Amino acid sequence: MERYEDSKLYQIRHSAAHIMAQAVMEMFPGEARIAIGPPIENGFYYDFELPRSLTPEDLEAIEKRMRQIIGANQPFVREEVSAEQARQQFADQPYKIELIEGLEKGGLDEYGNLLKEKPVISFYRDGPFVDLCRGPHVESTGKLNPGALKLLNIAGAYWRGDEKNKMLQRIYGTAWEKPDDLKAHLDRLEEARKRDHRKLGKELGLFYFSDDVGPGLPLFAPKGEMVRHLMEEYVRETQTRYGYQHVWTGHMVKEDLYRRSGHYDNYRDVMFPPMVDEDITLRLKPMNCPSHMTLYNEMGVHSYRELPLRFSEFATLYRYEKRGELSGLARVRALTQDDCHIFCLPEQIEAEFTLALKLIQEVLGTYKFTDYRMRLSLRGTEGKYVQDDEKWTQATAALKSALDANHVAYEAVEGEAAFYGPKADFLAKDVLGREWQLSTIQVDFIQPARLGCEYMGEDGQTHTPVVLHRAVTGSTERFLAVLIEHFAGAFPVWLSPVQAMVIPIADRHVAYARDVQQKLKDAGIRSEVDESSERMQAKIRHAQLQKIPYMLVIGDKEQEAGAVAVRLRTGEDLKAKPLAEFIQLARETIDKKE
Ligand SMILES: [Zn+2]
Ligand SMILES: [Zn+2]
Repeated sequence: MERYEDSKLYQIRHSAAHIMAQAVMEMFPGEARIAIGPPIENGFYYDFELPRSLTPEDLEAIEKRMRQIIGANQPFVREEVSAEQARQQFADQPYKIELIEGLEKGGLDEYGNLLKEKPVISFYRDGPFVDLCRGPHVESTGKLNPGALKLLNIAGAYWRGDEKNKMLQRIYGTAWEKPDDLKAHLDRLEEARKRDHRKLGKELGLFYFSDDVGPGLPLFAPKGEMVRHLMEEYVRETQTRYGYQHVWTGHMVKEDLYRRSGHYDNYRDVMFPPMVDEDITLRLKPMNCPSHMTLYNEMGVHSYRELPLRFSEFATLYRYEKRGELSGLARVRALTQDDCHIFCLPEQIEAEFTLALKLIQEVLGTYKFTDYRMRLSLRGTEGKYVQDDEKWTQATAALKSALDANHVAYEAVEGEAAFYGPKADFLAKDVLGREWQLSTIQVDFIQPARLGCEYMGEDGQTHTPVVLHRAVTGSTERFLAVLIEHFAGAFPVWLSPVQAMVIPIADRHVAYARDVQQKLKDAGIRSEVDESSERMQAKIRHAQLQKIPYMLVIGDKEQEAGAVAVRLRTGEDLKAKPLAEFIQLARETIDKKE
């Protein structure tokens, strides 16, 4: 597959970023400071420091000017320069001066990203505009299709992403080869906006964020908690079926344990500050592994016959994510992992990995994530990795062998492994084709040794077990965000917080409606009765907006016959059915998780 960096679209978007910067500089002659403007997935942006805030009208004017620049067909010309020449050119552009320094010292590219080799400093000129740039670009501005380009929005962005630096104004745009491609992209954006879990979460009454509680700390309302509960219950049942045992290990841990496990050195930045209690220092738990390993140790001497032992926990962890990076439920500071640690013998790795793989495939299938790929993350050459070549080789070989034996295609990436061992991640596509990293299985030869985990082998000697770290949905919060967007809020019946809305047409039907609700409750079906004085059509519309799967309308006929008129949220009319028949139909759908 062609790399994005080598594609025509990349050149188009990169060129569009330059054209946009030219238009903005003309709008604020002598006053605009330009920072960086790379192509990104589906578009491009450029960051500016300007004398005033940009408005939507400005965006229109900039877009108009961009079309004129495209019409002028200015050629893009590359030029190699010395650092001194570059400094002269950008004497009044402090951000560019800083980038030139990075290029000169080597190690950073024109966007401030780390490079392997010291780069050549080059300019790209088009008409009056010059940028510090490696390219590549289209031949001339006229190669862009003026009808396939759109500026989307303005956002604040810190210089170099660091909140200690100045906040700049970022303009996002998108550019394509043909107007039809642009239209398709804008339609996808509109669909994604409609499905945005932050918007739907509020509309469906699932969860809220409050300044009084703090950033990144969601509050789940009864309906949201019902969905969480059902998700966890389902994974718990499945895990039990696969031979897992559930444990609970609390929210705070002594910092010393994280120093011994190695997490302190590797994850200190994402831990909340310490709490000092006389002679001990505590931390909010950012991960479970050391707690599960300590529990394993406390449970006494383990024989090889007891292994594998599979400890699972729905554990709320606390991570000190940057405020600017918090995003609805997709990134929070309090997250609940469906975390599991499998203690096994070295020769059981392959079988345990296979079992975890099957469990993950089953769960993802239930949630209708059937399109996914696997990424195998291996050790890189740099720093953080624990040195033990033999064990890395052994672990990597076991994972590859299990993947091959199960005919799972994967892509191997070096330098992405955890510090303690290689890992396999599931990247699943949602209905909009967006990819999410969900499940993970990681092999660990290191932590169990550091924390003194042992078992008595067949040979009567003590040995260190291997631990597999495994999460199916990743975190309940993030997975819920993905599910809301995947299903556009219309959860499958088994996962819907309210499965049926009972709709009495008139007041005289309310008593029977309550009777129906009681029978549904007895059958384990969650329902509400809409007793408002609204008309029937309004009640149906309201239930549809709440994405409730079944609407049970009750009038004189239904009341007399002991029936309900069944409508689906899709608008489909299943007509009147005896209540018992509806209950049977709904129960089957729920039990099969359809
Ligand atoms: Zn450029
Ligand atoms: Zn772990």
